Amino acid sequence: MQVFHTIRDFRAARAEMRRAGRILGLVPTMGALHEGHRSLVRAARAQCDAVAVSIFVNPTQFAPGEDFERYPRTFDADLALLRDDGVELVFAPTPVEMYPLGQASVVVDVPEIGARLDGASRPGHFRGVATVVSKLFHIAGPERAFFGQKDAAQVAVLRAMVRALNMPVELVVCPIVRDPDGLALSSRNRYLSVEQREHALALPRALAEAAERAASCGDAACLRNHLRAQLEAAPGLRVDYAEVVDRDTLLPVETLTRGALVAAAVWVGETRLIDNLLLPPREVQA
Ligand code: AMP
Repeated sequence: MQVFHTIRDFRAARAEMRRAGRILGLVPTMGALHEGHRSLVRAARAQCDAVAVSIFVNPTQFAPGEDFERYPRTFDADLALLRDDGVELVFAPTPVEMYPLGQASVVVDVPEIGARLDGASRPGHFRGVATVVSKLFHIAGPERAFFGQKDAAQVAVLRAMVRALNMPVELVVCPIVRDPDGLALSSRNRYLSVEQREHALALPRALAEAAERAASCGDAACLRNHLRAQLEAAPGLRVDYAEVVDRDTLLPVETLTRGALVAAAVWVGETRLIDNLLLPPREVQA
């Protein structure tokens, strides 16, 4: 496994791979790796000749006052995992390498979709995400890039970006990996105390209950209201959003016949957690 900190060196290794005709899968991460990230690496290995993982806590997707400084950084442990998982290239640039002027001098914005769900709660967040992911695509030139369904709004933003800017990369979206108790894995789960973690379980539970309800109710408003009420009644949580939306536009849907994304974000103390589920399209009753 080769580890690169500069764009120039990483590109040289990538160019050699391209000359050999090898298909590259890129897995962008912010490090503090867990089984969710590893599932993306496994999918990339299965679908590509070689895997590159980027590890970069991207400052431009954090607003002032968010957790950029205290975001967990576990670089050596991350490298050990990636080595075990058969990753060939790791790209771990410094902020200065990615943003020599201290900030992005050119930005990529997906203004409408990027202002919905997490984009509404975290203005500018998806501009930072779209900018860094498009930089990573330009630097690595992967044939495929792997992302988690865990960040459903991010998936919608990146799909729109790739389509609108004709980027020659296929996005592969992988299912959410959960702990046995149902909590979706997240690098931020380590912020939670034992009690907060117990409170956080109301999030996957409310979503699972929504999935059951959706089977009998065709009306998105009733599902949305129920989800929100469940989360508001749960101790130790503050609801940021609880929505039933179209998976591509992130706009609220009225009926559930074409499937929908049920998504929620909650605060547990100082920690913001997100989770979601995709409802499958349904046969319309005659
Ligand atoms: P992050 O390091 O949080 O930026 O995440 C890097 C990638 O891993 C993103 O595409 C995430 O959606 C994905 N990811 C994070 N948590 C999970 C999870 N629990 N299951 C599947 N993918 C995940």
